[in-house]
Amino acid sequence: MKFVGAHVSVSGGVDKAPINAMKIGAKAFAMFTKNQRQWAAKPLEEKMIESFKSNLKKSEISPKHVLPHDSYLINLGSPDTEKLEKSRNAFIDELKRCDQLGLELLNFHPGSHLVKVGKRDPKYADKIIEAELNCLDLIAESMNIAIEATKNLKVKLVIENTAGQGTNLGYKFEHLAHLIDKIEDKSRVGVCLDTCHTFTAGYDLRTKETYNKTMSEFEKIVGFKYLCGMHLNDSKPKLGSRVDRHHSLGQGELGWDTFKFIMNDSRMDNIPLILETINSDIWDREIVELYNLIDS
Ligand SMILES: [Zn+2]
Ligand SMILES: [Zn+2]
Repeated sequence: MKFVGAHVSVSGGVDKAPINAMKIGAKAFAMFTKNQRQWAAKPLEEKMIESFKSNLKKSEISPKHVLPHDSYLINLGSPDTEKLEKSRNAFIDELKRCDQLGLELLNFHPGSHLVKVGKRDPKYADKIIEAELNCLDLIAESMNIAIEATKNLKVKLVIENTAGQGTNLGYKFEHLAHLIDKIEDKSRVGVCLDTCHTFTAGYDLRTKETYNKTMSEFEKIVGFKYLCGMHLNDSKPKLGSRVDRHHSLGQGELGWDTFKFIMNDSRMDNIPLILETINSDIWDREIVELYNLIDS
């Protein structure tokens, strides 16, 4: 069975998320557990936690199908010691907030190495590879620290693949595999594939043939057993552009076929499939359209 939803607003409180999900007919959702643009967040109050849980029950959405997203400020691979420390603490706090809400996943972008070299200049290729590998090791260290600091919790650290914009890591399946390989407690790690990021990172998904090729590469390098969720987005930029700009389904470079393949692929059963498309006014229709793609 497929569980489709969207990244819904928490304005007015995290307890509004299940309500907003219900309004659009979602069977899954993503949310922030704090203001995603601020470092500091006041602890979740008991009243808010109870209200979230009771709204979640009302929505009939399983906690397993809620995929919280961490703050955009966090960089678990920051070369700046102070920022790294701040990121690690904020990340641990977010894991605890998920647990308080009774949730089991936390989706995050791996991080950025921030080394300023001409990305496309071949004479810097070796330097970039070195910066990337060092950064991946730092991210893995951050993840191990976070897991250790929350070792009595079961919240999974769900690594999202990226478009590879700027100096973002996670745009190759090998990056995800490198991170997983270095995590001591593998029961605490998972992966989220974003269709827009996958495509702009250079993995085609537009035809049955390219979709199968990309997914078998993912299976070989990472493994579907780690797949905990997907972000369903069409893409404004072209294949391999390394630019992250989402579009509404069917309106971008990917087109509807990609989503038809996903909706008929049993490897995406029972995990949250989340829209982060640009027009929230049509999320309800996008959800209906996605379910209509399932072959009977
Ligand atoms: Zn995403
Ligand atoms: Zn994106």
